[in-house]
Amino acid sequence: MKYEDIPERYRGLWHRAVHGRSRQAAIRLNCLMCCCYQIVEVQNCGITACPLWRYRMGKKPLDAPEADGSEIDAPGRPHATGTNKEGD
Ligand code: SF4
Repeated sequence: MKYEDIPERYRGLWHRAVHGRSRQAAIRLNCLMCCCYQIVEVQNCGITACPLWRYRMGKKPLDAPEADGSEIDAPGRPHATGTNKEGD
């Protein structure tokens, strides 16, 4: 996919994602690309196993982790305390 392939109305979103380093804009644009830029298809996306599903509307869910990732619980990833579940 090239920049020119992005519909003009979504190029501002692309700039916010790439130059503005907006994570939410990047996820939103990715979901729009996934659904051929059909907003309704993004809204109705039923792929709940997709890791982006909760973020697909370009808004941070109320129960989302903090920006520093301190609430993200993944194997081997240090917790906010500096240790992980495996005790490494
Ligand atoms: S949440 Fe849905 S629309 Fe977004 S990337 Fe995943 S499958 Fe595609």
